[in-house]
Amino acid sequence: MSKASKDVPVRTCVVCRKQFVKNELQRFVWEYETEKMTLDKTQAMPGRGAYCCFNEACRQRFLNQKQRWKRAFRLLK
Ligand SMILES: [Zn+2]
Repeated sequence: MSKASKDVPVRTCVVCRKQFVKNELQRFVWEYETEKMTLDKTQAMPGRGAYCCFNEACRQRFLNQKQRWKRAFRLLK
C-alpha cells in the first residue's frame, strides 16, 4: 500500500471484515425494486452498499450469500 493518508476513506469487506481503502473494494448496491445486487462500478450509486474485497474467496462467498446480504442490507443504516 502507498503512503497512508488520514483522509483516505476506509471500508470493511463484509466477508473477511478486513479494512481496505475504498478503491481496493468492490461496492455492491441492493436494488429493492428488482431484488438484485448490482456492482457499483462508480462507487457512487445511491442506496445502501456493501463492500467486498478482491480476494476470490471473499467474492465467491459474497455472491453465494445473497440472501444473507439481502437481510443485511435491510438492517444497515
Ligand atoms: Zn474480503
